[in-house]
Amino acid sequence: MRVLVVEDDPDLNTQLKTALTDAGYAVDVALDGEEGHFLGDTEPYDAIVLDLGLPKMDGLRVLEAWRSEGRKMPVLILTARDRWSDKVAGMDAGADDYVAKPFHMEEVLARLRALIRRVSGHTTSEITCGSLSLDTRSARVAWDGNPVKLTSHEYRLLAYLMHHQGRVVSRTEIIEHLYEQDFDRDSNTVEVFIGRLRKKLPDNLIETVRGLGYRMASPQSVGDGN
Ligand code: CA
Repeated sequence: MRVLVVEDDPDLNTQLKTALTDAGYAVDVALDGEEGHFLGDTEPYDAIVLDLGLPKMDGLRVLEAWRSEGRKMPVLILTARDRWSDKVAGMDAGADDYVAKPFHMEEVLARLRALIRRVSGHTTSEITCGSLSLDTRSARVAWDGNPVKLTSHEYRLLAYLMHHQGRVVSRTEIIEHLYEQDFDRDSNTVEVFIGRLRKKLPDNLIETVRGLGYRMASPQSVGDGN
């Protein structure tokens, strides 16, 4: 999952980037409204954290512009605690949720998880496929109840496939949703990571669909782990 943080306070921007990276997301950042608007308009984010008070272009205008351009990604706005009118204006402009400043990082993480889950049609923070379970709160994966140790890139890839199980995900889509903007996007790396996941998990769990991409095996064919 790839997210964008638009926040002009450099310390807060860094804190958000660090916390979201630790939580398993690929994270791009912008420090003003113009750059934030550009990135949100051109890159396929799974969710965006948007401050409202921003230099160059304020957050509400950024959000309105995205929505009028047909960009549908979930947006979590950051508002000042006592400005209830900001929350109303933000929701009216197309925000999906808000967090009031100062906030606890855990609340931002929980709200983002919920937004991303909702978009992909999952209702709980644990996503399963047969005996495979992925806990989006702890970024932990287990097969038949036994923990599976994954690197952060392996986790991101599996989490993306799990959120979109039931459909084929192309390599281009994987690259766009797994890596930060300045990452060296060699499509061979996707194959490498798929190969590593197959070594750590039953190898029929991720299907290759020739010429199209990858898909999680159906829960029935993955079985109950016995
Ligand atoms: Ca601000």
